[in-house]
Amino acid sequence: MGSLHDLHTHSTASDGTLTPTELVTRAARVGIQVLALTDHDTLDGIAEAQAAAAELGLTLIPGVEISVTWGGRTLHILGLGLDPTEPTLNAGLLGVREYRDWRAKEIGLRLGAKGIPGAYAGALALAADARFVGRTHFARFLVQQGYADTVRDVFKRYLVKGKPGHVTGDWASLEQALGWIRGAGGQAVIAHPARYSLTGTRMRHLIGEFRELGGVGIEVISGSHSRDETFVYAQRARDAALLASAGSDYHGPEHPYMELGRLPNLPAGCTPIWVDW
Ligand code: AMP
Ligand code: MN
Ligand code: MN
Ligand code: MN
Repeated sequence: MGSLHDLHTHSTASDGTLTPTELVTRAARVGIQVLALTDHDTLDGIAEAQAAAAELGLTLIPGVEISVTWGGRTLHILGLGLDPTEPTLNAGLLGVREYRDWRAKEIGLRLGAKGIPGAYAGALALAADARFVGRTHFARFLVQQGYADTVRDVFKRYLVKGKPGHVTGDWASLEQALGWIRGAGGQAVIAHPARYSLTGTRMRHLIGEFRELGGVGIEVISGSHSRDETFVYAQRARDAALLASAGSDYHGPEHPYMELGRLPNLPAGCTPIWVDW
């Protein structure tokens, strides 16, 4: 039996493939009781998810996954339990999405220069919501066009650092992201910390800065963490007196390596982020 909480999921409002209603319905079916919708840089799916959750008797936590540039790399910071109507948060996310739009066109130009025409238009056509185009949409388009077999392959060959379609991020600062989340009454959580390939020293710096800015949690259980990584970050959470979160990072049934409702429980000794919800 999986964890009853899943605090990191995506819908068609960003780069997931299920609508908010479909996502919530599926979550209820697999026994999740508390679900956070955390689309990248947007709150556009929250209202629909809340309506579906109310129908199904599931608790929907309004959330977001903010793209942050820190120390020259991209990090993802989750905001959980925030007020999705808060104006400063909404204005901040709008600014991040403006950068995202510029970047999408830039990715298209760079791929075009390498002999892959029409990638921006193709990615845009695959985006359910024209207000959000991400690298995942480019990846799905390139797979469709036969440039690679899987979305993962596209990332490896075209979209990461050193590859033709890579654009260095210029996202929100850590300070901005935490300011927006806290200003909207939310809890800030470092998403999938093991994915950043930071040295132990850099990770300690990040956690220190994050705590000083009012961050409270770290994603210990993640669909993208191995069992060993889970124990490493459980220990870091305890050492830094941070709360522990758990989320699948679900993007839809086309991404079979990560399913809903299969998250293990938090390791012993962690204080769950939902301790006083
Ligand atoms: P973006 O915010 O548009 O730069 O896209 C980031 C998203 O791309 C992540 O949230 C994942 O959904 C996806 N992604 C990143 N790296 C990979 C990868 N190596 N394989 C598959 N999907 C990835
Ligand atoms: Mn994503
Ligand atoms: Mn992420
Ligand atoms: Mn995510």
